[in-house]
Amino acid sequence: MSETSSESAVERLGTVREKIAAATAQADRPDGSVTLVAVSKTFPAESVRPVLEAGHRTFGENKVQEGTGKWSALRADFPDVRVHLIGPLQSNKVKEAVSAFDVIETVDRDKIARRIASEIADQGRAVDIFVQINTGEEPQKAGVLPREADAFIAQCRETHGLPVAGLMCIPPADQEPAPHFALLAKIAARNDIDQLSMGMSADYEIAIDFGATFVRVGSAIFGPRDYPTA
Ligand SMILES: *Cc1c(COP(=O)(O)O)cnc(C)c1O
Repeated sequence: MSETSSESAVERLGTVREKIAAATAQADRPDGSVTLVAVSKTFPAESVRPVLEAGHRTFGENKVQEGTGKWSALRADFPDVRVHLIGPLQSNKVKEAVSAFDVIETVDRDKIARRIASEIADQGRAVDIFVQINTGEEPQKAGVLPREADAFIAQCRETHGLPVAGLMCIPPADQEPAPHFALLAKIAARNDIDQLSMGMSADYEIAIDFGATFVRVGSAIFGPRDYPTA
C-alpha cells in the first residue's frame, strides 16, 4: 500500500473513494451504491473536521461516550452528518445512543432491541437499526449467531416493531473474509434486508464485490490508531 502518514486524511479519503468507485464498477453495481463510513474512533474532533470540510458526511464511532462528546460539537457545524454506532451497546447507554447516533449497527440481543424501540418512541428520533451477526461464531465477539439470525430479526420486527434496515459483521481477523461476507449477504437476502455493512480498511473492495452497501474504513483514512480498540 502506498498510504503513508505524510499524506493527509483528506488525500487518503480521496484514494479510498476512488477505490470504492472502481470496486463498485468492477462488481457491475450502480455508481453510488456503496456508502463510505469513515471510522473516526480514537481521533479527536480536530482530526475529523478537515474530512467534514472536504464534504464527507458519514462517520462511524465504536464507543457511545466518545461518539457523543465528539459529535455534539461537530454536528452543530455540519447538521447533515450521519454517525453510525459500530461498537457494542450496553443497555445503560441506549438512551444516549438513540439521541446521539443516526444508525445503530450493533443490535444483537433482545434486551437492547426492546430498549432501543422504547427510546425511539420516547425521543421521537429516527434511527436506522442494523443487526450484528457473529459470522465466525467467535465466543469473544458480539453479534447474533448465524443460526439464530432469522428468529432474532423476526423478533425485532414483530415483538418490538423495530424495522431492521441492515446487517453488519466483523469477520475473524485470521480468516479469509469472503465467506463471511457471502454468509451475511445470504442471511440478508432471505430476510428481505437491503443494507449490508461489511468491509474495513483491509478488505472493503472484497466486501463490495459481495454486495456491501456500507464499508467501514478507519485507518486507511485517518492513519494508524495509537491504541487498539475492541
Ligand atoms: C475500528 C473499526 C473499523 C475500522 O477498522 P480499520 O481497519 O481501521 O478500517 C470497522 N468496523 C468496526 C466495527 C471497527 O471497530
